[in-house]
Amino acid sequence: MRTLLVEDDNLLGDGVQAGLKQGGYAVDWVRDGLAAKLSLESTHYGLVILDLGLPKVSGLDVLKWLRQRGYSVPVLILTARDTVADRVIGLDAGADDYLIKPFDLDELLARLRVLSRRSGGQASPVLQCGDLEMDPAARQVRKAGQSVELSSREFTLLHELLLHMGHVQSRERLEERLYGWGEEVESNSVEVHIHHLRRKLGPSLIRTLRGVGYVIDRA
Ligand code: CA
Repeated sequence: MRTLLVEDDNLLGDGVQAGLKQGGYAVDWVRDGLAAKLSLESTHYGLVILDLGLPKVSGLDVLKWLRQRGYSVPVLILTARDTVADRVIGLDAGADDYLIKPFDLDELLARLRVLSRRSGGQASPVLQCGDLEMDPAARQVRKAGQSVELSSREFTLLHELLLHMGHVQSRERLEERLYGWGEEVESNSVEVHIHHLRRKLGPSLIRTLRGVGYVIDRA
């Protein structure tokens, strides 16, 4: 899941970025509100983690701008201000969830899983398609009850396709979800990972639409 982290505190940003990467997210980290707007204009994100107290443009203004433009990406706000009023303003401005600093990294990851699930229209934490089951929290995949070992990229790719079941995902979009800035994109990487997923999960799960992209059809 390609995630934008907007946080001007270097220590906190560093910790969150490392934790997210370990959790299988591709992370772009910017440190002010203006850079956040530029990133959101140029890249399609699956999640945004937004600090409210930011240089140049405040987190709240970034959030309002984002919603005014009709972007529906899930946003989790980080706030140092533990007042009900601030939280309400943030939620009213279009945030989907919030965390008060300092917070536990595990809690952040758990909340992000809920947000990505909701945005994919999935109510259950476990994603299912036929005899395939994916538990994003436990990072487990089962096929007909048997555990399947996937690499981190394969897992991310399968997660994206299952979250958007029935909707074709272009190769470019999947590539965006797999890699953060500064990460070298291996050539044909999406094709290669799809090939491996088919080898592990069966040839018919992921359908290729030539020149368009990939889709997992609803079972
Ligand atoms: Ca701040």
